[in-house]
Amino acid sequence: MEDTAVSNRPVSTGSVLSRCANAECSAGWLQLFRRRTVPIFEGGWCCSSACTQARVEQALRREMEGRTREIRLYRHRIPLGLVMLEQQWIDAGQLRRALEAQRSGGEGRLGDWLVRQEGVSEQLVARALGLQWSCPVVALPFHDASAMAPALPRLFVDAYGALPLRMSSERMLYLGFEDRPDPVVAFGMERMLGMRVEPVLVPDAEFRAAHMRMLMANFPRVELLEVSSEAQLGRAMSRVIEKVRPVESRLVRVHDFLWLRMWRRTPSGLRADASHVEDVICALTQD
Ligand SMILES: [Zn+2]
Repeated sequence: MEDTAVSNRPVSTGSVLSRCANAECSAGWLQLFRRRTVPIFEGGWCCSSACTQARVEQALRREMEGRTREIRLYRHRIPLGLVMLEQQWIDAGQLRRALEAQRSGGEGRLGDWLVRQEGVSEQLVARALGLQWSCPVVALPFHDASAMAPALPRLFVDAYGALPLRMSSERMLYLGFEDRPDPVVAFGMERMLGMRVEPVLVPDAEFRAAHMRMLMANFPRVELLEVSSEAQLGRAMSRVIEKVRPVESRLVRVHDFLWLRMWRRTPSGLRADASHVEDVICALTQD
């Protein structure tokens, strides 16, 4: 719509003429006379709305395939109390009392009980969680929430407690979590953003303050799709792509959400501007 000067250029595949990215495209040489240069879906130009739909449906099948056999990404982990005991950060009495309090309280994390009742420092609990999950623990002296908001939809910040912290110059994004890393969210973002995403843990109090600010930031526009079948989903998503005409778009599944992202402009440098990005999210039903 706006921004025609940048977006109406075909993504060059090395030749002067673009080829339709749909392997089953029936347009043949006719596609060369098509006027359209967008949309681009997953790096490939689609010559017609039918070809966009075919490619989106293919991507949907790919994303749904892994759904039933979600990979167990972590080995069995040592309980937090044991980690802290081994490090001699707590003694057996503290652990026993905290476990009892947790049991009789019926809720709450052991780490919280250790902090609240046994006077253990939050930093030590965070370090123990880091050991438990083999995941670095980082301090968060400064966090630029608005610069990080284009990295993911607000929904994922909210639902999975994912907090993008900062990007390094080596195309790497640090993704903070409060008490356990979510490798599925990290991997989904990695595929979507085309950069390494490194899960890290942030000590409780720092995490909560930054997470709260993050939720208030200005995120990319998002449309929530409600559909009742996979076939409907393919049609609905390709319709949105045809309407927005992005210079790039990608589809990734994150737990029980399908996340379609569309870029209206090629991101410059590491970051995309929130206003140049549009997200579509669809919750998958449990059938
Ligand atoms: Zn085609």
